[in-house]
Amino acid sequence: MTYLSKSPWLLHYNASSCNGCDIEILACLTPMYDVERFGIINTGNPKHADIFVVTGSINEENKDVLVNLYEQIPDPKVVVAIGICAASGGVFRECYNVMGGIDKLIPVDVYVPGCAARPESIIDGIVKSLGILEEKRTAMVKGIPVKPEMNTAVREAGTE
Ligand code: SF4
Repeated sequence: MTYLSKSPWLLHYNASSCNGCDIEILACLTPMYDVERFGIINTGNPKHADIFVVTGSINEENKDVLVNLYEQIPDPKVVVAIGICAASGGVFRECYNVMGGIDKLIPVDVYVPGCAARPESIIDGIVKSLGILEEKRTAMVKGIPVKPEMNTAVREAGTE
């Protein structure tokens, strides 16, 4: 562990999810699944977060919010896409108002499959992201850039 290490806090954003995956995320925070044993706390402030957990797909209404939240989270950070909607648009990907998965706008580190994603899978994804976060912290200490390029073309193109 590097000197930058601390308990990882997560920010959860519902980007047009049906709430199915969100209920499973909340289940992870309950004593039954208890992600707090890893020191993880669900914060409402992006400036306090290390892990950006996103459900649902992107559309014209939420794309700027998603990018805004991502940019407010300090580096190093990791993004976890929960469920197939966040990965690709899922069952809604052919809808007129759905632009696709969140990686069309922000870089994703871990994809958690499922519809809805199960709590065990979500915890696996979060734990995997902790390893990636640690790698990014180590790289940052060495002066290696950790922030990939954002896909501004899709953001600007919209759904038209
Ligand atoms: S992946 Fe399934 S459960 Fe999760 S937000 Fe999409 S439709 Fe809902």
